This record gives sequence, structure tokens and C-alpha cells, in this order.
Amino acid sequence: MTSEETQNLINYDKQHIWHPYTSATKPIPAYPVKRASGVRLELMDGTQLIDGMSSWWAGIHGYNHPVLNDAMKSQIDQMSHVMFGGITHQPAVDLARLLVDITPEGLEHVFYSDSGSVAVEVSIKMASQYWYAKGNSGKNKFATIRSGYHGDTWNAMSVCDPHTGMHQIWQGILPLQYFVDRPKSRFNEEWQAEDIASVKALFEEKHQELAAFILEPIVQGAGGMYFYHPQYLRELRQLCDQYEILLIADEIATGFGRSGELFACHYADISPDIICLGKAITGGYMSFAVTMATAKVAKGISQGEPGVFMHGPTFMGNPLACAVAVASIKLLLESNWKENIQRVERTLKETLEPAEKLNVVEQVRVLGAIGVIELKEAVDLSSIQAKFVAEGIWVRPFGRMVYVMPPYIMSDEDLRTLAAGMISVIQQEFSN
Ligand SMILES: *Cc1c(COP(=O)(O)O)cnc(C)c1O
Repeated sequence: MTSEETQNLINYDKQHIWHPYTSATKPIPAYPVKRASGVRLELMDGTQLIDGMSSWWAGIHGYNHPVLNDAMKSQIDQMSHVMFGGITHQPAVDLARLLVDITPEGLEHVFYSDSGSVAVEVSIKMASQYWYAKGNSGKNKFATIRSGYHGDTWNAMSVCDPHTGMHQIWQGILPLQYFVDRPKSRFNEEWQAEDIASVKALFEEKHQELAAFILEPIVQGAGGMYFYHPQYLRELRQLCDQYEILLIADEIATGFGRSGELFACHYADISPDIICLGKAITGGYMSFAVTMATAKVAKGISQGEPGVFMHGPTFMGNPLACAVAVASIKLLLESNWKENIQRVERTLKETLEPAEKLNVVEQVRVLGAIGVIELKEAVDLSSIQAKFVAEGIWVRPFGRMVYVMPPYIMSDEDLRTLAAGMISVIQQEFSN
């Protein structure tokens, strides 16, 4: 493509295509990517960028992986899609077997859907239909912790952080849910028993209204890049049991090794009643998600009125997505994933921690393959993005969070380049 053709492409995009959380009339620049391979994105002009984002936590094995490419190519020659109503197929069954096997104990019923937000919608419907089927339809509200993120659809948004989830725009129409403060006890600190007191107080007062408590276990992602203490999950599980409230774990961001455990619930050794998985499930190849439930939830729904779970997306159980998910999960399990993620964690710690000395930096934190530099003030996205590209790295901050979640295959050398680039850009951006 000539540079003029590239410019035309950029201009058309700018005039007609909406990007995530971006103005249609005054968009910030979008960089045209020509191809991607391993941990590198290649722009139209040949610029190579080390990718620190894994395309929003998804591309855990890097781009253009031969095993994942093969899985999709062989599936496409069988069938790309077939409806899931009254039909099943090998990739769907293979994937379910794997998921039932590796997720926390007791999650035995698998519901496929198209994206993370939909998986969260499905979990919310499951929990409320469960109580309806049990003759307890008053239990239809949800509780969560502040600064969470659960997706952009309506009910998912209602349990996002009220501030960053922009509840004020839809005040009065967004369903009202219950919020408690997130735990103050951080992942590597001592547990403070009073952290759970607000949950206990809420349950005591509102348990008759509460269908479920939903949260991201251990790692809050897009709502604040925050790591909290596993004891919170243990006590929450216990309180949910005591007050008959279902527990929904949204592991869309944390699932498949990102936090250092295969699933973040493993840190606390708990099983939720419902789990949501997405993002990395297909190794970043296709939009796909899963909601899994225990036998208690599945039976509860199926043995009451109307006897069926009222949901069924057109592209449910898409064979291409299932096939690549199976290949991606096997690739992960067959690798030394735990040692490897510990390696990424060590290198991120070693290379990001020097940033703590900068005046503009509030805190550096690293867990698993997640490295966060929390700043004291918010970044100007357009200006900082250009500087990252000039450094040869791809990083997309939000608010005060400059963070990376690299593909697990990233070498220590590339991790060092990535971290050094992040620190250098922060210095440049805030030097005057
Ligand atoms: C990204 C994310 C979602 C939403 O997933 P989409 O695929 O973007 O709809 C939900 N929950 C968590 C924790 C996420 O990180």
C-alpha cells in the first residue's frame, strides 16, 4: 500500500468508523495495523510495535500462532457455523469437557455465548431465573464491589463502578443495584477483618432482595487495575451461603492464567455458583464467551417454571470459536504456563518497579502477567499514545492507569524493552 492509500484508509476510518469509547466527530488517531505476528504488531508503514496489551487481555499466545491458525483452518473446512438449537458438534463437546475439567469444582453446566458482556448478562439472567424458579422472584437485585467492570451492555453496566461506569448518565433507567466498597486489603498485604463488614451488613438487611453478588475475583481490571486479598473471597463465599445469595465470579479478564493461577478463584480455593469466561478463551482469535453454573443452579432453573433457561444467541456454540478455544486451552495447559507466568511476573516487577521513584507515579503493582503503573493524574490518551508508538511499543492506558498484560510468550528481552519504553514515555509526558 502506498502512503497515499494508507492516508485514504485512515481518513475514511476517521470519517465513518466509530472506535471504542471514542468521539465520532473528533476521534483520536487510530493506527493502521497491517499484520501481527508473535508479540509484534506491524503498522502499514512497516513500524513494528511490541504489544503490551494482548489485544485487551485476549491474545495470550501471541498473534498468528501456527497451532491456532491450523485449528481454525481445519474447522472451516468442516463447517464454520451451524445453529445450536437441537444440534451439537465435536468442538462444542471438546471445549465443554476441558472447561468442566479445569474450572473451579462444581461448575458443570456450560452456556456458550458471543462476548464477555453477554456472558455477564446470561449470568444475571441465570441468577434471577434461579430464584424465580424457586418461587422467590423477590430476589432479583444484585450486589457488587465498587470499581468493578463487567461489560458495556445494560445489566452488566448496572454492576460496573457507578462513577467510571457513568451511571449518572442513565440515572433512573439503569437498574439500581447495591454497591459496597472494594476490599482495602491488598493482595500481598495483611488481611483486615473489617473489609467484609459492609457485605455482612448489606446481606443482613437486604438478603431477601438479593439474587447474587457479582465480582471480579482478586483482580479488578478495567475498573481500576486493583489486586485484593483472597480472604475476601473466602468470607464472601461463606456469607453468600449463609444468606442464600448466589456468587458470580466474573473471570473474563482473569481466566486462563493471567493472574498467575489458571483462574483467580483458585487463590482463595473457592467455587462460585456461576462463572463468566471470555477474552483469552479463544487465545484472542474470536469473540466468544462462556457462562458456567453448578448443578444446583442448573437444576433449580430447569426444575421450576418455565423449565428452560430463557436465552439462546444465534451464534451460540460457534464451531470455529469452540475449535480455536480448544486448541488455545490445550496449548496453555501443555506449556509450563505457571512457571512461565511467574517468569513474566518477575521480569515485570524488576523492570517496572524503578518507576515508583518518579514523582508522577502513585504506585507500581504486578501480579501474574499484569503490570500496572498507577499515576497521580490522568493521561492525555492521544498524546501519550503517539509517544508509545514512537518508542516501538503498544500500550493503551485509561485514566491514571498505564498498564500492560503482555502475551505469555513474550521474552524477557521484549518485556524489558516494553517496561523501559513505558517509563520513558511517562517521563516525557509529564516532564513539563
Ligand atoms: C472485558 C470484560 C467484560 C466484557 O467483555 P466484552 O467481551 O468486552 O463484552 C466483562 N467483564 C470483565 C471482567 C472484563 O474484563
